[in-house]
Amino acid sequence: MTQESYRSKRNVADVPVLATAHTCTGCAACANICPTSAISIRLNADGFYNSLIEEELCIRCNKCAKVCPILQDGPEQEAPPAAPLAYSAWSLDAAVREQSSSGGMFTELARHILQSGGIVVGVALDEELHARHVLVRDEQSLASLRGAKYTQSFLDHKIFREIAQELKKKTPVLFTGTACQTAGLQSYLGRNDPNLILCDVICHGVPSIHLLDRYKSHREQMAGKKLEHIAFRHKERAGWQHSHVKLTYEGGSTQTVNPADDVYMQAFLNDLCLNETCHNCQFNDFPHCSDLTLGDFWGLEHLHPTWDLRQGASLVLVHTDKGKELLGQLKDRIFLSREPLDEALFDNVSFLRSWPEPRGRQAMLDELSGRLSLPELVRKRMDSLLPRYDVGIVGLWYSCNYGAILNGYATMAALNEMGYSAVLIDTAPLSGSRSKMLRYTDTLTVFRQFAKRWLHTTPPMAHPRDLARLNEMVDVFASGSDQVWNIGYNEGQQHIDDYSLLRFANPEKKRIAIASSFGHANDIRNPQQMRRAKGMLQCYDAVSVREDSALDILRSQYGIQGTHILDPVFLCSRKKYDAVSLLAPVQRTEQTYLASYLLDPSVGKKAVLQYAQSVLACQSVHMLDAQFDFTSKKRQMDLPGIEENLTVEQFIHNIAHSRYVITDSFHGACFAIIYQRDFICIGNAERGAGRFLSLFKQLGLQDRLVSSVDEVVAKKLLTTPIDYRRVHATISSLKQYALDWLQKVLQEQASPRVQMEKERLAREVKRKRSCFSLLYRVKRMSAVYQLSKSLLAVRREIRQAQPVVRHALGRREWVIKQQLRTYLPFLRQRKA
Ligand SMILES: Cc1cc2nc3c(=O)[nH]c(=O)nc-3n(C[C@H](O)[C@H](O)[C@H](O)COP(=O)(O)OP(=O)(O)OC[C@H]3O[C@@H](n4cnc5c(N)ncnc54)[C@H](O)[C@@H]3O)c2cc1C
Ligand code: SF4
Ligand code: SF4
Repeated sequence: MTQESYRSKRNVADVPVLATAHTCTGCAACANICPTSAISIRLNADGFYNSLIEEELCIRCNKCAKVCPILQDGPEQEAPPAAPLAYSAWSLDAAVREQSSSGGMFTELARHILQSGGIVVGVALDEELHARHVLVRDEQSLASLRGAKYTQSFLDHKIFREIAQELKKKTPVLFTGTACQTAGLQSYLGRNDPNLILCDVICHGVPSIHLLDRYKSHREQMAGKKLEHIAFRHKERAGWQHSHVKLTYEGGSTQTVNPADDVYMQAFLNDLCLNETCHNCQFNDFPHCSDLTLGDFWGLEHLHPTWDLRQGASLVLVHTDKGKELLGQLKDRIFLSREPLDEALFDNVSFLRSWPEPRGRQAMLDELSGRLSLPELVRKRMDSLLPRYDVGIVGLWYSCNYGAILNGYATMAALNEMGYSAVLIDTAPLSGSRSKMLRYTDTLTVFRQFAKRWLHTTPPMAHPRDLARLNEMVDVFASGSDQVWNIGYNEGQQHIDDYSLLRFANPEKKRIAIASSFGHANDIRNPQQMRRAKGMLQCYDAVSVREDSALDILRSQYGIQGTHILDPVFLCSRKKYDAVSLLAPVQRTEQTYLASYLLDPSVGKKAVLQYAQSVLACQSVHMLDAQFDFTSKKRQMDLPGIEENLTVEQFIHNIAHSRYVITDSFHGACFAIIYQRDFICIGNAERGAGRFLSLFKQLGLQDRLVSSVDEVVAKKLLTTPIDYRRVHATISSLKQYALDWLQKVLQEQASPRVQMEKERLAREVKRKRSCFSLLYRVKRMSAVYQLSKSLLAVRREIRQAQPVVRHALGRREWVIKQQLRTYLPFLRQRKA
């Protein structure tokens, strides 16, 4: 369900409508701003803090709704935000480093603020072992804030008021918490106070307080004593990377538990009891709502293999000048080393995206008050760890093409912004010839690395029959955008239609197409393929296409009424791309260069580039398609400034900061439009001209499409700027139309006719499936066997490799482990 529908459920006409139980983070901004104290922060049924308005006390001033960070979209940024600086760091005080969760950076920041006469607000455990934000004025009390408490912390209705009063007196204040909490304080204050330092921790999500209560009574029952303290990250026994949980009981006795054997940490790390809002966190993005972010620097051993990290290392992200200045003042107390941002976040994706919700999450929360003991309950729910998504998208996002992967990213991001979780289905292993498949699944390509950082993807589907298992994870299936219905794309693949047309979906699942494309003005299926495709298309609940020509194909060949909507790259907000762009390894100066992106270089296109260079008289950055034949394309271009190993982040960054864009790619042109860059698009008929014409006609940009240098000269395109006010007004209304369509189809019931079609298709699929059952099982086992073999091989290589190579191999090992891990639930289920 989406935020809108939750909100509309509240039947209190004039009382302000705040974030709901499903979206509220408990940040307490509303409770603190309320002039009549009508709002309190209470535990909801699942054990998370939520706001509650007492209607009788509410004077309808609406101040609370205005500060609620969940309800504020924030203004669309004019220019892309600056990239944060990333550092590895730790306290030089060995005791502090040892007692802290990561490298002890929090304590050093806090000490500095206290020594400057300031106050620190952070999280301590109370007698009940519940976490709450408290205000600290001296170094002795600081110890209670040290160490991460892996549970949601309580913010009362006075704490922001006290901070505001201190700031009025010009007292330096350090506020630490999760990003949603710093966003709450920022929104409450409504201004950037020079005396306030906001410092958030990288946040995996917060587990339920009910889980902590159950854990506490479980441990007390086992020990026969009152549990007095929990240190979630104790390093003494096995060091930072394998930190244990240390429990202190009444009388001072202690117990140290390996997190792998600890029910609480198992439930936390497997996301079994996280707050619902954490699965679609709105605060782990850019521009970030704090001056500094602290986290663990996971993967630092790969960057600096000789460093001794047993005692811990912090990752520090600096977002503002204020944060940078403060960090500079600590230089005598800390070790600090600048690191590349993309490397720093490679093993810590919690900062970039939320973790998916596992299927058993709600059941686990419901059963916390039941009769099963906590270990029994966690064991039971560990079997339902398959994640659950609202929408599963089939597309060509994996195909080593910048436009394709960003198209997938945008579809996912747009759905997330609407309040839906989404996953991209990984059909790369089914994508045609062996060489294609190997390239598309190679975890070391820039595309797979982008996917690891930014995308939610399913395990690779080694066989078309794996797709059927997705019915257990996904509620709605969607054919994604781009050339997903272009049967020529994966030539020779008999089964391409089986997944691109969602044949595997169960009859009760909704099927939709989001701006899908046939790739050409005509559908090139043969009559037999067309008959099959028709049967599958008729099972769709709603179909939208990207080009106007596709509407005709649908109508004339398949008897289906489609809707024409914009390519998904226009459907998410620009800040989603700004975030990606910040992780570009090379951060460029604004508008100083000409950016080109050519999929198919030719003599004519090179002439256009050279002419543009001579007129604009600026530097050039040339980007080529990395799908196949990069070397021969580079040779053909033969121009200085061609980027090698271009990451997806760098691709966006290069366009976003350029002065002018020249491209023969549809998505190259789309990103020039999104970033309001003047551009020339050189027609690329081999890859289908329809999409260019269709989009440019809608936006009134037909004159930007050229075929030769003469046309560029005649139209004076290099000196005629695009009227982006007009273009963006059109995009806004087309975007709204597309999002409304999507919202409507995701909420609508299936029609009885479509339901009948789905059941017919399901019967047909079932008949065929039973014939291949054994073969399928053998293939699945062989995939797991092959992966296990690769894992052992890569581990052997790591042991023998030079430190430089070890980093890359470490990544490969990580990915294989992930793939293996995601296969396990499938196997376990079959056994059951
Ligand atoms: C719920 C949670 C999830 C986290 N997930 C990740 C992650 O996925 N990846 C990662 O790199 N780091 C994560 N961290 C952060 C990490 O565990 C450390 O807290 C952080 O690196 C600071 O460590 P330190 O050594 O500098 O200081 P420490 O002394 O260890 O940290 C204490 C700081 O954390 C704050 N804090 C403690 N508990 C809470 C809480 N419940 N809510 C809000 N703030 C709290 C305190 O106010 C204080 O500022 C998470 C922290 C929490 C609380
Ligand atoms: S301001 Fe914070 S606590 Fe209040 S409703 Fe919004 S998210 Fe919840
Ligand atoms: S994941 Fe996001 S919403 Fe959840 S506690 Fe962390 S910052 Fe807040």
